[in-house]
Amino acid sequence: MNQANSTTTLNFINGQYCDPISDGWLENINPADGTSLGKIANSTEQDVERAVIAAANAQPQWSESTLEQRSRILSKIGDLIEENLESLAIAESEDSGKPISRARTIEIPRAASNFHFFANAITQFSSESHESVGQNAINFTLRQPLGVVGCISPWNLPLYLFTWKIAPALAAGNCVIAKPSELTPRTAAMLGGLCNLAGLPAGVLNIIQGEGPRAGQALLEHEKIKAISFTGGTATGEHVARVVAPKFKKLSLELGGKNPNIIFADCNYERALETTIHSSFANQGQICLCGSRIFVESSIYEKFKTDLIARTTQLTVSHPANEETAIGAMVSGDHYRKVLSYFDEIDPTDASILCGGKPATVEGYEQGFYIEPTIIEVQNNQCRLNQEEIFGPVVTLMPFDNEEDLITMANDVKYGLSATIWTKDLDRTMRLSKKIECGVVWINTWLMRDLRTPFGGMKNSGVGREGGLEALRFFTEPKNICIAFED
Ligand code: NAD
Repeated sequence: MNQANSTTTLNFINGQYCDPISDGWLENINPADGTSLGKIANSTEQDVERAVIAAANAQPQWSESTLEQRSRILSKIGDLIEENLESLAIAESEDSGKPISRARTIEIPRAASNFHFFANAITQFSSESHESVGQNAINFTLRQPLGVVGCISPWNLPLYLFTWKIAPALAAGNCVIAKPSELTPRTAAMLGGLCNLAGLPAGVLNIIQGEGPRAGQALLEHEKIKAISFTGGTATGEHVARVVAPKFKKLSLELGGKNPNIIFADCNYERALETTIHSSFANQGQICLCGSRIFVESSIYEKFKTDLIARTTQLTVSHPANEETAIGAMVSGDHYRKVLSYFDEIDPTDASILCGGKPATVEGYEQGFYIEPTIIEVQNNQCRLNQEEIFGPVVTLMPFDNEEDLITMANDVKYGLSATIWTKDLDRTMRLSKKIECGVVWINTWLMRDLRTPFGGMKNSGVGREGGLEALRFFTEPKNICIAFED
């Protein structure tokens, strides 16, 4: 079955595409025009059981494969993603509403990099040894695969985040049951066929499609799944933690954000302004790392505000398949309505809309879910617009007078994922970086990623870190072995 051309998105279990056992289906809606892209398997615990059996059968052989064998297969999967870039980018853009240019130039290439990166990383992964000097003993640590692990990913960067979990899990010798978001299922399904072509043994990667509370929940609850790597919303993450904790599974949570984008008067103004457009509106603002709270030093506040509005109103909101589209469609009708509801509920004593704040009409696609890029000036950091993750093309703007106030506001939020700081003052970058409560700080840039670095959040933005060796550590069990020797 070639999932690239199919209107039916199936599960991929034991190296084969298959219908859901319950014959339950969901509809896949194209958010750019409201039409149907076909149907999606809506799996149940029966399908998860089938996948776990396949994974458990494949496990002994995969975990005993040499690092070179794993590395070669993972690298080949990365190559095949590159070779199929165009069809993957089209499916991604149609499922999610993201501009095709973004899928083609950023997200699908990154999915390939995830495999290439972990194909290399596993060959460099080593563990510690400790000589117990004076006790005639040496300790060393084995890093063993966990077994069968579960990976659950969201819709905003579909294949990019799906593979960010799968690649290290496979590299470390685990077999995987992975569930993409039911809103963006097709590139994940296509990955199954590419894994077959790359020679990944049947059962090593199994892809389960369907709704979170149904298919995802079955993954959380299955006794044989030893770890859950989850990326998604904070409320779902809380639920995942509650279900998984009593089962003593290893758990990694990458959750929501409400990130400060801090602009000092001494910054490289043009770069800060240009990058702020991206950090505010890339992927329609549906990136957990978007700088959705913009704080600008008072002395340049009015100028920055005027320039930001001018650039924002020039952004082209259009059908995602158009090359010139800067802002495509929101992922779904539900999410579109959720984002719009924030505009309806604005309290004029708290905030005023500077631009946008309403649906955008794209001629010929009136059933699509488009929203104008929106800037809202807020009076205080406590308002709902500054406290809740809106996850749309919406940013707030606020002046600040000094570092102390700024740090208080930056940290006065339940999230702690990332921060961006624009300044040329090196001392200030260090002072702020140490004090801001978050997992990633970008200085004079945004979303510049080196896959070796630890990635993740503090507070309600998550628990644990992904990326580089952190991911390989998560997907392995350290076992200390102590050998005594005689003089
Ligand atoms: P979501 O929490 O609704 O869904 C995420 C995944 O969890 C989906 O696959 C969904 O089907 C599944 N799910 C839902 N209920 C489940 C349940 N009961 N059991 C098991 N699985 C379940 O999130 P979303 O709306 O798809 O994604 C947007 C959110 O993801 C935003 O909050 C965003 O900030 C966050 N996110 C975080 C990061 C990060 O790295 N920190 C990256 C991307 C997105």
